[in-house]
Amino acid sequence: MDDIPGFRCTSCGTCCLEGAARLQVTEDDIALWQDQAPHILEFVRLSGRKGQRTGEMGRSVHGGAETTRCVWIKKFPGRDQYYCRIYPWRPRVCRRYPTSIEHARFTDCPGV
Ligand code: SF4
Ligand code: SF4
Repeated sequence: MDDIPGFRCTSCGTCCLEGAARLQVTEDDIALWQDQAPHILEFVRLSGRKGQRTGEMGRSVHGGAETTRCVWIKKFPGRDQYYCRIYPWRPRVCRRYPTSIEHARFTDCPGV
C-alpha cells in the first residue's frame, strides 16, 4: 500500500476490524513465523504438506468466540486509531492491502 500514489493509511482499523477474523496465510508467512515469531503460529491452523502449506489465522483456531476482527488488532489508548500487534510479521494478505486506489475505494478504506 505504501507505494500507491495518493494513498495514506489513517490507522482507522476498519480493514482489521471487519472481515478479518480469519485470514488466509501462505507458506512464506508460515516460514517467516517459524523463524522469527513462533508465537504467531499459536493462532494459525495449518493445512497441506511442507512446501505447500497454507493456513488460517484467527481466534477461532482456539475455539474462541466468533467475531469480525483480527486477533492482533489493538486500539491506541485515548484515541480512535488502531495498530497491528504483529506489524513487522503481518501476513502477505495484509501487506498487499489495498492493492490499488480503486480497491481502497471499493472496500471503503478512507486512506484515499
Ligand atoms: S481501512 Fe485503510 S485507512 Fe483504515 S487502517 Fe485499513 S488501510 Fe488504513
Ligand atoms: S495481522 Fe495485523 S494488519 Fe493483518 S488484519 Fe491482523 S491486525 Fe490487521
